Amino acid sequence: MCVILLSFLPATAQNVPTPEKFLGYKLGDQFTPHDRLVRYFETVANQATDRCKLVPYGQTYEGRPLMVMAVATPENMNRLEEIRTNNLKITGLVSGTPSSVQPAIVWLSYNVHGNEAVSSEAVMQVLYDLVNPTNTEIQGWLKNMVVLLDPCLNPDGHERYVQWYKQVANFPYQPLPFSREHQEPWPGGRFNHYLFDLNRDWAWQTQQETQQRVALYNQWMPHLHADFHEMGPESPYYFAPSAKPYHEALTPWQRQFQQHIGEANRKYFDKNYWLYFTREKYDLLYPSFGDTWPSFNGAIGMTYEQGGSGRAGLGYVTSEGDTLTLTKRIAHHVAASYASIEAVASHGDQVLKEFKTYFDQSRNNPQGAYKGYLIKAKGDESKVQSIAQLLDRNGIRYSYANKGGSVKGFNYATGKSEAAKIEENDLVISAYQPKSVMLRALFDPKPMLEDSLTYDLTSWAIPYAFGVKAYGLPDAIASGNTSDKPKSPTSAQPPAVAKPYAYLVEWKDLRDIQFLSALLKKKIKIRNSEVAFEMNGKTFASGTLLITRTGNEALGDAFDTFITDQAKLAGIIPTPVSTGFVDKGFDFGSDYNHFIKAPRIGLVTGSGISTDGFSSTWHFFEQQIHYPISVIDVSRLSSVPLQQLDILILPSGSYSGVWNERMINKLKDWIQDGGKVIAIENAAEVLGEKADFEWKKKDEDKPSPKKVNSPADTLKIYGHRDREYIAEDIQGSIYQVTLDNTHPLAFGYDKSIAILFRNNSPYELMKKGWNVGYLQTTNYTAGHVGYKTKAKLQNSAIFGVQEMGRGQIIYMAENPVFRAFWHSGKLLFGNAVFMVGQAY
Ligand SMILES: [Zn+2]
Repeated sequence: MCVILLSFLPATAQNVPTPEKFLGYKLGDQFTPHDRLVRYFETVANQATDRCKLVPYGQTYEGRPLMVMAVATPENMNRLEEIRTNNLKITGLVSGTPSSVQPAIVWLSYNVHGNEAVSSEAVMQVLYDLVNPTNTEIQGWLKNMVVLLDPCLNPDGHERYVQWYKQVANFPYQPLPFSREHQEPWPGGRFNHYLFDLNRDWAWQTQQETQQRVALYNQWMPHLHADFHEMGPESPYYFAPSAKPYHEALTPWQRQFQQHIGEANRKYFDKNYWLYFTREKYDLLYPSFGDTWPSFNGAIGMTYEQGGSGRAGLGYVTSEGDTLTLTKRIAHHVAASYASIEAVASHGDQVLKEFKTYFDQSRNNPQGAYKGYLIKAKGDESKVQSIAQLLDRNGIRYSYANKGGSVKGFNYATGKSEAAKIEENDLVISAYQPKSVMLRALFDPKPMLEDSLTYDLTSWAIPYAFGVKAYGLPDAIASGNTSDKPKSPTSAQPPAVAKPYAYLVEWKDLRDIQFLSALLKKKIKIRNSEVAFEMNGKTFASGTLLITRTGNEALGDAFDTFITDQAKLAGIIPTPVSTGFVDKGFDFGSDYNHFIKAPRIGLVTGSGISTDGFSSTWHFFEQQIHYPISVIDVSRLSSVPLQQLDILILPSGSYSGVWNERMINKLKDWIQDGGKVIAIENAAEVLGEKADFEWKKKDEDKPSPKKVNSPADTLKIYGHRDREYIAEDIQGSIYQVTLDNTHPLAFGYDKSIAILFRNNSPYELMKKGWNVGYLQTTNYTAGHVGYKTKAKLQNSAIFGVQEMGRGQIIYMAENPVFRAFWHSGKLLFGNAVFMVGQAY
């Protein structure tokens, strides 16, 4: 046997190919496909083993690799793992005494929005310069620093853009904006596979890419995180300081460092006479961005924005007549990368000192009004499990109450300070922990706005998003009364029954829908109860699933194991019963218990459909409840044989030209025959404009309720034009929508549901049809709503059901499963799909 011994050469600049040498073209001459980007990173990692290390952290939905490159001096590279764990000891996330010598950790993230593709070009230059030992200025910065480079956070979106561009671009490129290469088709490369915006997903982590990235982030906890973006091609460069509003939880040091970042960037941009702006547009409020989430985790967080994005291509003529080239865009992002590193290098000691102070305070003296949170578990065990998973993903610690007690706190449901009972298994979260600030941000009942102009949602608190009873506690929770795991009280386990007559499953949460979906796919016959009933001293609410042995004989003796196995998979506990005779209510054979037909579902997508609307419903079926659907392009809708579907889901969209007379008649005929339409947001509005559809927008011309003393008071001020729209604006605000929970659309809910509002187009209460969800006058809970919209939303319909022949139309003014994080609306959407219409 012959063994070849390899001797490893020390890395030098000569070993590491420049991006140009490796790619065969100059950076900026072409867009680089993701696999070539990965190969360049691997090549550099193999050549400069003493200066960098590739850390794979997962893969995308389409199977592309995700990774970061750690870059450091050879001395720091040798102790990379020690540096990482030492940093975690400083935060308190791992126990142990940290050593005092610690380099700063800088994490630079590129290309979270796939079609902002300049980032993944710029990062190749940044990597080359960082590992180049002859670049003395950069090597000087690196003496006390580790840099982590994520070359592409969203490879699937990046490839969608780059491959499209390569197919359509002229050669040489055509810079005129109306040329095809500047008109990216729907849905564009911004989003990931499921068309989610990964820069809105940091806190909620609904997407695989985010889950894997944040898991690695929590293993490093960098001191600075910068997120590289692009905006429209006409805008000059943007860097920090950020615009207002800043979330209250940002520390004085984090605010001050925004200025240092501005200074560091200004130097590069002024020297090159590049145009830029600061302190406008990009704020620091909503905690799920790539700048805010790191900021609430102790880092200095920031966004960079280059003019360009999917419109700019290799070159683009701006309205001023200048040509914006990819080469120029790369130069700006490379400069901002250096400015970020240099800013940390020149404030190194203070960066480390303030980072330590941040976590010392988080553990010992947490900021904010609440020193802990209590989440009631009884009846909401499944939602509490989902919250625990979300806290785990964010690195937030929690425990479960193991004995009773009482406390006083802010009741999220009433908005008042009230007494609360602590009961066994309640989720207890102390603010005295390393991730205290993130905890505060996620539970913030009413984020304070320094300024109403903001970029995204203005309210999001976990108790509302999950629909649980919760309290913010002004006093620290006594330790010693909690345990790491919930007890499994024997009372929750229903008594065993030999060869049960049926199994009952209460209809309460997403897990119950997952269970139903699994059974329907196996063709199990299931009923649901329209009316609450009592058995063995227990009340089963409307919507309870009844799975009788009768009708499922085909499974034979495997019936019981199948049901219990599926329940275990979904994380629920079914109740076996020995009879179909109820103590109170209707027996299992009654007409009030409806057979659930497994629906054949069509979901509309395509140009003109909102990516937010489509992505959240697509992800719901495919990733959350695993139920098969047909995705139908809106341009092909007219040729779809509707009789092969039971449900047609219309996500928000313009539907322009879709509902002509022939198509609307086809749709109505199908509904008359038993079809069901679920029309969401703008899709409901568009349908409501057609004859025989009962969903009507409120009259826009009604006078505003604001008092007017003189006609001059109503004149618009030119200088206030940016703010004019605030009066009509609504930006991710929360309302408790009143429910008619006797209707199947509201099964499993109490008298209201917290819904995130993003539309300022209120609807009339339906005259013919069921107003299942509506607003009265006191339903507002949190977030920014302009005074005009607030008034119009009073007494408006939010969720309505119209019967038409044997079918139904379900109208939804807001998307109850928005961005997959609004958990409390998932059951309502499940009701629309599986419960409504079974009674007919
Ligand atoms: Zn972006």
